[in-house]
Amino acid sequence: MNRMANDRNALEIYPGLATSDGAGVRLTRYIGSPQLDHLDPFLLLDFFQSDNPDDYIAGFPSHPHRGFETVTYLLAGRVRHEDNAGHAGVIETGGIQWMSAGRGIVHSEMPEQEAGRLAGFQLWVNLPAAKKMAAPRYQEFSSSEIPVESRTQEVEIRVIAGHTSFGTQGPVRDVSTHPIYLDIALPPGQSFCEPVPPDYAAFVFVIDGPLQICGRTAKEDMLTAARQLATLGTGDRVHLVAENSPARCLLICGQPLKEPIARYGPFVMNTREEVLQAAHDFQSGKF
Ligand code: MN
Repeated sequence: MNRMANDRNALEIYPGLATSDGAGVRLTRYIGSPQLDHLDPFLLLDFFQSDNPDDYIAGFPSHPHRGFETVTYLLAGRVRHEDNAGHAGVIETGGIQWMSAGRGIVHSEMPEQEAGRLAGFQLWVNLPAAKKMAAPRYQEFSSSEIPVESRTQEVEIRVIAGHTSFGTQGPVRDVSTHPIYLDIALPPGQSFCEPVPPDYAAFVFVIDGPLQICGRTAKEDMLTAARQLATLGTGDRVHLVAENSPARCLLICGQPLKEPIARYGPFVMNTREEVLQAAHDFQSGKF
């Protein structure tokens, strides 16, 4: 059977919103902002990048999470995390931490450096109602543990979660929303094509651009510049093309949960009552 692939077009392009969080870390928020509240199952996406320690040194001191997963991917620098269950470690350049908070953790995320460049992402991925009160779980992989798929024309893909049509499997496994998390590097003029499930939410974050997102017709092709996020429309394939300079992007996809979202700060549940319970449990030391 021969069938035409239906390339997903760029639905909207977001420049992100400059803000600060934690104890005063400067970052740009793309999801979880007034422009884009959420993209089910994704609740938040922050990008941080600075070589000025004043922008990051304050870090994210002790704070709780319940009901979802926090995913930290570092492009540069080092971040130390410690939680109230005794779990501690350092995420280094190119490393990923996929933390499922479940019923609750209290942790800190602090820069493990006093100078130099710190850059990376934090993504929040929702958990289904049945998993919101599960035991916390960590999946952590250093840069060398993340497979790099080399395609023709020196197109390289770091496969963090999910598997590609070329058979590369990312090390992050058994996540409820079956995410695909790829870091894609394209030499000038080269392209990337990959089938993705048509029912998945999908977005592209352009690290180095511009990058062309090829939609269903030439008319819908859109270019995105560096540090822009494009949400993708319907279709069963993602088709990206670099312009005259090298491009790099994240392609992140996941299965929508289609459940009610009740969020208040670091707690994301299904109902307001569950969020109030989370705040109460945290304040009474039950995390
Ligand atoms: Mn956190």
